[in-house]
This record gives sequence, structure tokens and C-alpha cells, in this order.
Amino acid sequence: MNESPRTTHATPASIYGRYSFWLETCGDDLTPRPPLDGPIDVDVAILGAGYTGLWTAWYLLKRDPSLQVAIIERRIAGFGASGRNGGWCSSKLNVSLDAVARMYGRDRARALQGALYDTVDEIGRVCAAERIDAEFSRVGALFVARFPYQVGLMREYAEMFERFGFGDRQGLLSAAETDTRVRVKGTLGAWHCPQYAHLHPARLVRGLARAVERLGGRIYEETEVTGIRPGGGSVRPSLRTARGDVRARAIVLAGEAYLTRLRPLRRSVLPAYSLIVLTEPLSDAQWDEIGWRGRECLASFRLSIDYLARTSDGRILFGGRGAPYRFGSAIEDSFDRDADTHEMLRRFARDWFPCLGTTRFTHAWGGPLGMPRDWMPGVLFEERTGIASARGYTGHGVSASNLAGRTLADLLTGRRSSLTELPIAGHRSPRWEPEPLRWLGVRYVQRAMARLDEIGERTGRTPTGGTLAERLSRH
Ligand SMILES: Cc1cc2nc3c(=O)[nH]c(=O)nc-3n(C[C@H](O)[C@H](O)[C@H](O)COP(=O)(O)OP(=O)(O)OC[C@H]3O[C@@H](n4cnc5c(N)ncnc54)[C@H](O)[C@@H]3O)c2cc1C
Repeated sequence: MNESPRTTHATPASIYGRYSFWLETCGDDLTPRPPLDGPIDVDVAILGAGYTGLWTAWYLLKRDPSLQVAIIERRIAGFGASGRNGGWCSSKLNVSLDAVARMYGRDRARALQGALYDTVDEIGRVCAAERIDAEFSRVGALFVARFPYQVGLMREYAEMFERFGFGDRQGLLSAAETDTRVRVKGTLGAWHCPQYAHLHPARLVRGLARAVERLGGRIYEETEVTGIRPGGGSVRPSLRTARGDVRARAIVLAGEAYLTRLRPLRRSVLPAYSLIVLTEPLSDAQWDEIGWRGRECLASFRLSIDYLARTSDGRILFGGRGAPYRFGSAIEDSFDRDADTHEMLRRFARDWFPCLGTTRFTHAWGGPLGMPRDWMPGVLFEERTGIASARGYTGHGVSASNLAGRTLADLLTGRRSSLTELPIAGHRSPRWEPEPLRWLGVRYVQRAMARLDEIGERTGRTPTGGTLAERLSRH
């Protein structure tokens, strides 16, 4: 599907249903809400109706129902990663506790991890309170070691959580113990974390949009922000659109990977494409063979990232990060479907579960997520310019965006709290290198990581952490 340069109003709802299985099955009317129809003046103007923008609006409006909050969305609520992801509501970030401790010290790394555990509870709580039927389910996570080279990585991982005092929140399972939960070919053991939840991503984002509207927030869809004007002195900051400017006391940039399209933010994150394939519902006999009754979030210790889920209607979702980075951080609808990567994911799924045999894959989609240079999300508010932003969750944004939204609400209302003391509050990542260095470096690391996995699978050798690719992507 190629994106048209300028979407016209009243795009048929069916168009948006094609972006993911989740949008197709979210049960909400995807007909775009009316666009902005002239300049407006509000208290808080938010770019982007994904989780980040909507959680920020929700917490602001819960705190102060009199606030005027406007969300400006280029397509529809949930069009971005929030309507397409794997549904893992994880209780950790992609950046390691060791890396956070190196930057901010052990206590603040521990505080961040504690806040992430609480965040999973918080999302479940709000879904229940707002009656958002997001299929939130506390299923836990299993990261399996499928090859000898992954066993060392798994142990290091568990030891890290032990060292930070979270031993009671996780544990290692033997191969036999793992098999009682899910039978994956070649399993040698698993890291188990009961804190994770799984949810229907699009039901969450669409339900959240409705909840924000019930609180009085306004969402303008099919309205693209084309520029940002910082505030200063008596000038209020504003979001610029072809349909008029949105002036506010504060503006919030919640466009994650897509922020790279705005000139000043071009190198703030890297749009990394994550792709997904989905099977048809499996038969009872197949589920008897696989087990996986607990529907845990499932992954392996591959360096080049895989993630799986069992959907509530009995399908297997298999996702991965193999899609090539595009020069200049380009984002196009056509990149959502990369034939080679999707075929590789189907092959992987059959390898994990040989009983898939001739099972059909009914859906394939993908999308960009925002990756900062140091893998550490940043939640920022600069009072001088009135510009706030939260971004860079590196594939863990289902939960991290809630934490970011709550933190932004505190920052924007001038409230000092335990959230505003977290290492992500005020964190500024280094910018990505200019092109062509960026393309050369990222493509090199992508290929090298896949190659380290291949070598590990063939030889059993655990990566030393000392290769150039590993050092470049250390986090
Ligand atoms: C395939 C895939 C699988 C993933 N799996 C997981 C997972 O299992 N678990 C997990 O935690 N995370 C996962 N992620 C990451 C997670 O989905 C994201 O981190 C999260 O959704 C980010 O939310 P957001 O609101 O910040 O950004 P988005 O959801 O991307 O929303 C940004 C919004 O801003 C809008 N926008 C952008 N630019 C403009 C503009 N100029 N004007 C107006 N509007 C604009 C976009 O249209 C979009 O709706 C995955 C991501 C992908 C792509």
C-alpha cells in the first residue's frame, strides 16, 4: 500500500483496518474524526494520537477537567505503532539495568524498574476503570534459550535482575519446566517474569481515545502537523498545520518514530521497522501439542529480536526486527511489508513449532518504532519554550508510554513527584549520526547481529560482547 502525500478527509474506515490485524478486529469505527477547521487556542496541544499522546491527555484531564486539551493526529488514533504492535505490556525497558545504572546510579535504576512493574498494574487498572475491553491479561513472559549460545545470555540476564534486588520478580526455568508451559523446539530453559501482561493493542488505543473524549479532550484526525513554533517571552508555542495553527501554553510532541519527519527532530530517534506475521487459528490438536495455555509473552534470546504471542482467538503472532533500515530515516507505508523479512518470520514460526506444517498465515504487517541512540527513552519539558516530548521506547512502548504520559502530566502541571525524579525524566539521548554514516552503521549492525545469531546456532559459541557490532549497539 503506498501512502498518498496528503490524505483527504473522510477516508473510508476500511482503509485503516488494513494496517494491522489489531485495527481490523478492534471493534471500533475507524472512520476519521473531523479534522481541524481553523486556528485554535488551547491549554495543551498534543501532536499524535498514539498511546503517548492519549495517556498524557488522559492524566492531564483526570487531574484538571477544566483544561482544554487538543490532540492533532495526521491519520487516525492508533494509526502508528500503538495500533500495530505485538501487544506485550512489558515490565522492563530495552535498555539494561546495568546501562541505566552506569548513567544514573544503582538507586535510580532500581526506581525506574520499580516504576515499570507498577506501570503494568496501572494500565490494567485504567482499562478496568474506563471499561476499555483491551483483553488485558496478566500472562507473564517467557524468554526461551533455544540454542546453547543463548543459555549464557539467559543466565546473565537473570543475574542482572538478582543483582538489582529483583530476584523475587523473576526466575529461571529448566527445559522440563519450560515444556510444561510451552513446547518450543530445542528449548534449553527459559527466563520467566510473571509481571508482564498481554493486551489487544488497538482496542487499548481506540478505547483510550474515547476515554479522553469523555473527559473533554478534542481529537482532530487527518490533520498533519507540518512545523513546530517554540514559545518564549509572551509568545505561546504552537503546532502548525495547513488547516490553521494550534497555539497552547504547552505543546507535546508524541509522534515517536514519525517525529523524524520534522526537521529539528530528524536525528532524535531512528525509525526501526518491526514486522509481524500471524497464523490462522490453530486446531485443538495443534494447541494440545504446543501447550501455551498460559498465553505468556514469548521470545528467545536471539540478538536480532523475536517476539511471539498467542492471541485470544487461538492464532500465533510472530514478530521480529529484521527489516532493513532505510536511508535518511525514511518512513513509507510500503516499508510495512517487506517480503523477505515476512518470509523469514514465517520460517522461524514453523521452526519453533513444527506442528504448524501447512498452517496458513493470514496477516502480515509492520511499522516503525522510535529508537534513540542510547536506547534510553526521554521524557522532556522545557518551560522556556513550552515544548514537551516523550519518545524512544525501542519496542517497549506499550507500558513505557503510560509511564511517560503520567510523568509528562506531572511535568506539565509543575508537580514534583517520584516520577519526575526517574532517570527517563529529562533524559536527552545523543543524536544519531548524519547520513550516510547512519545508514552504513545501522545496516552493518543489523547484518552483524543476524550473523552472530547464525554463528551461535551453528557453533554454540556465545557472543563475547566484544565485536564491533555489539559494542556499537551496547545498551
Ligand atoms: C510492529 C511493532 C511491534 C511492536 N511490539 C511491541 C510490543 O509488543 N510491546 C511494546 O511495548 N512495544 C511494542 N512496539 C512499540 C510500541 O508499539 C510503541 O513504542 C508505542 O506504540 C509508541 O506509542 P506512541 O504513541 O509514542 O507512538 P505511535 O503509536 O507511533 O503514535 C504516533 C502518532 O503520531 C502521529 N503523527 C506522527 N507525526 C505526526 C504529525 N506530523 N502530525 C500529526 N500526527 C502525527 C502518527 O500518525 C501516530 O498516530 C511495537 C512497535 C511496532 C511497530
